[in-house]
Formats: sequence, structure tokens, C-alpha cells
Amino acid sequence: MDKRGWYTEEWAGAGAAISLKVTEKVHDEQSPYQRIEIYETETFGTLMTLDGLVMVTDRDNFIYHEMMSHPALFTHHKPRRVLIIGGGDCGTLREVLRHDAILEVDQVEIDERVTRVSEQFFPELCSANADPRARLHFADGIQWTKESSPGHYDVIIVDSTDPVGPAAGLFSASFYADCYRALNAGGILVGQSESPLFHADLIKGMHGGLRGANFLDIATLFFPQCTYPSGWWSATMAAKDRALSNFREEDVENRRFPTRYYNHGIHHGALAVPEFLFKTLM
Ligand code: SAM
Repeated sequence: MDKRGWYTEEWAGAGAAISLKVTEKVHDEQSPYQRIEIYETETFGTLMTLDGLVMVTDRDNFIYHEMMSHPALFTHHKPRRVLIIGGGDCGTLREVLRHDAILEVDQVEIDERVTRVSEQFFPELCSANADPRARLHFADGIQWTKESSPGHYDVIIVDSTDPVGPAAGLFSASFYADCYRALNAGGILVGQSESPLFHADLIKGMHGGLRGANFLDIATLFFPQCTYPSGWWSATMAAKDRALSNFREEDVENRRFPTRYYNHGIHHGALAVPEFLFKTLM
């Protein structure tokens, strides 16, 4: 926070940054994995940063958490068992548990402090943590996936930090191969895949790595996320053995839970590939 009361995240190598007017820093700790800071802001509610990078704000997290969960879950024919890797703020977990058919969710977050701090400062994101279907584990998601029984999960969601440090391996070919094995028939993997504007090469690399792991169909979802680098974000889905183009549209229309961003039109639109990426992703 600078002298004028602004928090600024400079976007590495992009010559750009985002600033949020803050009123107070309310928490600051160094966990075994990262620095966790919490600020109160003038217009975005509570802000959490990890190693100085925006992770979640009260105001705009709904877009990201809905897009990391509902497209994959409504594409799967009947998701029962879900694995979330990362997701320590628990916003994705809350969205997954809105689906009644879900029997159990393993959330594997390497840094327990992220979840404990989120329980204190983002109670609404953690509102589903006591759901009997939720199983919170604090471990390395790469190891967890490697040791998972073949075919155990219907959907795997990788809600990780950027591909550096402990998260780097979550963007690797060997991890994708472990996900392929841990997914059941009809299984779907979805991972946050950074900014299409700043990180197009990473998205292309993910498509190549997922194809190399024998996933049959791969599709990237594009959506806004104003507090993440460039304000334009993505999540990349990979289906073990089916097409991603069709999803349970009627179930989306008839869903019995509220969303603020996701609906069936958004689902269709998010799958449309921007022209500059079309040749490389299709
Ligand atoms: N929405 C954020 C984004 O897109 O950058 C991600 C939110 S969530 C807080 C990211 C979490 O991934 C962090 O809490 C971090 O500790 C966790 N993480 C990173 N590498 C991991 C790994 N190998 N296994 C499990 N969790 C990991």
C-alpha cells in the first residue's frame, strides 16, 4: 500500500498494472508457502493477495468461481466425485456444492493458512465448508493426483496460482497424464489458464500438453476478470473421451441455484475462440 493509500499489482513483463484504493491492511503473514495479505478497499470490498498478487476480491470473484465450476459440471453427464486442486479461498468449492448430484468433493490446497485466513475474512466464500460432502485436505495437489485411484473422479478443477513455485507442476504433461488416469469415463478436467492477452502461448502449451495426455477434446473458456492481469481471463477444459461442445442446457435452464454471471448463453459465448487464437487452438 503506497503513501496515497493505493495497492498496486504490476503485471510482470506487461508494462501495465492494476491499482485498488485501500482503506486498511487488516492481515499480513508469511505462511510456509507464500505471503498472505488482506486489505479492505474503498470499492472492491475485501482483497486477498498472495505474494503481492490479487487472488480474490469481494466484488468480482463471482465471475471466476462460477466459470471455474459450472461449465465443466454442466458439461459432464452426471458429476458425482470432484477434485479441486488449490482453491484455498473456497469460492470454487461453494459453487461446486450447489450441484445436488455431487456426492463428494476433495479439495487439496497446499497451504492451510490460505483457507484459515479466508474463513476469517471471506466467510461467504467459505459458507459451504461444513457441507458433509466437502473434504478439505492440505497437501500437494500434484502428489494427490498421482496417488489417486484410476477413474476415481468425474471432474478435476485446478484452481491454482500462476504456473510458478508449487503451482508450476500443475501445468505439466506428467500432471495432465495423472489427471487423465484419475478421471472416470466421461471425465472432465478444467484448469485456470491465465490471460489470453498476456499468456496466449501458455494456453497453446496447455492444449498441446492435454492432447499429448490423450484427452479427446480441449476447449478454452474466455471471460472477464477485472482484477486479474489484463482483465481478461480463461479456463481450459479437457474431456477424456467425449466432445465439449454440447452440455446439459436444459439442466442449466432449470438449475435451482442462483448465479450472477453464468448462464447457458454465457456458456456458449465463453467457448467462442477469439480470431487471433483461432488457428492455434482449433
Ligand atoms: N483465483 C486464483 C488465481 O486464478 O490465481 C487462485 C486462487 S487459489 C487461492 C490458488 C491456490 O493454489 C493458492 O491458495 C495456492 O496455495 C494453491 N496451490 C498452488 N500450488 C498448489 C499445489 N501444487 N497443490 C495444491 N494447491 C496449490
